[in-house]
Amino acid sequence: DLLVVGSANADLVTVVERRPAAGETVLGGDLAVHPGGKGANQAVAAARLGARTALLARVGDDGHGRLLLDSLHAAGVDTVGVLVGGAPTGVALITVDPSGDNSIVVSPGANARLTPGDVRAAVSLFLASRVVSAQLEIPLETVVEVVRHLADGSRFVLNPSPPRALPTEVLAACDPLVVNEHEARVLLGEACVSEEPADWARLLLAKGPRSVVVTLGAEGALVCDSSGVTRVPSVRVDAVDTTGAGDAFTAALARELGSGASLAEAAAYAARVGAAAVTRRGAQESYPTAAEAEALGGR
Ligand code: ADP
Repeated sequence: DLLVVGSANADLVTVVERRPAAGETVLGGDLAVHPGGKGANQAVAAARLGARTALLARVGDDGHGRLLLDSLHAAGVDTVGVLVGGAPTGVALITVDPSGDNSIVVSPGANARLTPGDVRAAVSLFLASRVVSAQLEIPLETVVEVVRHLADGSRFVLNPSPPRALPTEVLAACDPLVVNEHEARVLLGEACVSEEPADWARLLLAKGPRSVVVTLGAEGALVCDSSGVTRVPSVRVDAVDTTGAGDAFTAALARELGSGASLAEAAAYAARVGAAAVTRRGAQESYPTAAEAEALGGR
């Protein structure tokens, strides 16, 4: 079973002719409200692939929280760990201009109130989970508490997004640490002396995780552990919208690791799922079932 610990947001999207300057008001198109947040996205992606998946998260006692719970239920995610109340549901206010450039304000809301105490109270979810996956849209001290509650023999997958410096204790638990190009550059900081993703993977591995995956968009991914770096080819598709591709990739990776796949096998499957996700608009709405991922390239 898979446990995702992370954020749940409502994404409020409006299309504008021009993004507003200071003091300016512009009129936008009709508001679209989508369930999002990296934690909820990963949980929905894994459940759609058929994994038994639970989410530990916090939403507000409001309409956005109910929207998120509905989308989690529709995908088959176990929501006993979705705590309600304490602050409004997290929201991303997104304005998109005709060229596709966007400006985003995130109000973390209830996500910022997912505490280490909430992790301690969810110990039964940890005992039932072979793989635990997290991201950084919740407080870092909560992620630290997560790695302290991993059951014996269970595996921790971290996508450090948005990227920030990580305590040694968290890095050492990652198997793998999953980063895109931007996250790799931020985590390496001044140590990012090369433009070669294979070097980033090796340098990140030297920071302490047991393994590293670097995702490279249409170029696929690299996996790296003590035996070296392996390239994982991407699947060629017509990309329509890459929103949430990384979340689909990480969810698929975690699911496959939970069923005993090697890191390279799991990443190859995850690349198919990530590719399927970019062929449709949206994040959660774009996630494939196992059959759809298979149709794209076989398992
Ligand atoms: P993020 O969404 O975090 O920026 P990436 O863009 O690296 O992450 O995408 C994650 C994974 O999704 C990639 O490793 C790849 O397997 C798949 N993917 C993303 N974009 C494409 C694309 N244009 N064509 C095929 N696969 C893609």
